Amino acid sequence: MPFEIAVLPGDGIGPDVIGEAVRVLDAAAPGLLRLTEHAAGAAEYLRSGSPLPEATLAACRSADAILLGAMGIPHVRWPDGTEMTPQIDLREILDLYSGVRPCKLYHAADTPLKNYAAGSIDLVLVRENTEGLFFGRKEPRRLDAPEVRDVMRISRAAAERVCRSAFEIARRRRKKLTLVDKANVLPSMAYLRSIFMEIGRSYPDVAAECVYVDAMALYLVQRPERYDVLVTENMFGDILSDLAAGIVGGMGMAPSADIGDRHAVFQPSHGSAPDIAGQGIANPVATILSAALMLDWLPSPETKAAARRIEAAVEAVLADPAHRTPDLGGKLTTQQMGDQVLARL
Ligand code: ATP
Repeated sequence: MPFEIAVLPGDGIGPDVIGEAVRVLDAAAPGLLRLTEHAAGAAEYLRSGSPLPEATLAACRSADAILLGAMGIPHVRWPDGTEMTPQIDLREILDLYSGVRPCKLYHAADTPLKNYAAGSIDLVLVRENTEGLFFGRKEPRRLDAPEVRDVMRISRAAAERVCRSAFEIARRRRKKLTLVDKANVLPSMAYLRSIFMEIGRSYPDVAAECVYVDAMALYLVQRPERYDVLVTENMFGDILSDLAAGIVGGMGMAPSADIGDRHAVFQPSHGSAPDIAGQGIANPVATILSAALMLDWLPSPETKAAARRIEAAVEAVLADPAHRTPDLGGKLTTQQMGDQVLARL
């Protein structure tokens, strides 16, 4: 029986990059998946009044995995002016606590750093997705108040599970895990660090260390080759994952997976990129690699083998720096980039 995949193309460049990922999935995993599209996003809000309709949510709950493009249209907001973020709502509703963001350099030409060859940067950032400094994101906006506070919530349960998932990932890779925190200043971060060290005692085969977030911003630029897996709270992860994407070619190259105990959403790290939407020039690599993460996560040797095939095809395409979309100085359209991957498959 094929795995049921709920596909949510969303807004902006979402449908374009999802289109290429779907073509790649059809070619790499024939008969293994049943892909069904569902509406969500800011355009869906304009149409139906909800950016995440009940029917879509129900389909996501019953699917084996969810493949998402990007969501958001700049001027489409809630009446109080806040941005519509159904993709973040989905993480919270489905309890997708572990935000897994692999960053790999495929060609020296893609990094702004000097003297980094293909494969020399290869790290995974694990972002806690359910609390941290995003905890108060739904609080009302009180722009006329004399002061406003945002709460950084670190709960033992959420910290334990995200640390455990990061140790598990490190165990399957180069066995090195770095907690990124601010334990020298914030009590919540000292708490997170103590839980991280505690969980680490069950993983004696993984070398665990802690680095302050400001230092990590420096080290990711100066010596990213030293890192294997990083784990951090929600907001630090939000910021550092863009920085990490920047050293391997930008948002168009950065896949991601939001994983819980029962559900998982796979989507590129980037947003709907309104500045290039509708032009057919978005880089589909992040989404194609996210589709490979999905195949790897599904519990079947066949899908895992298909994931390897997609990764190898992407690697072969990117070995030639002429195969690039305009975000990386190339001339290929979204579809031509997809064609290249399909040709290798
Ligand atoms: P969000 O807040 O939803 O993450 P954002 O507003 O931070 O989104 P993005 O939509 O990710 O930003 O876009 C940031 C920049 O990166 C834009 O200039 C955009 O054009 C570029 N970009 C993002 N994704 C891609 C892509 N797949 N291909 C090419 N350029 C991209």
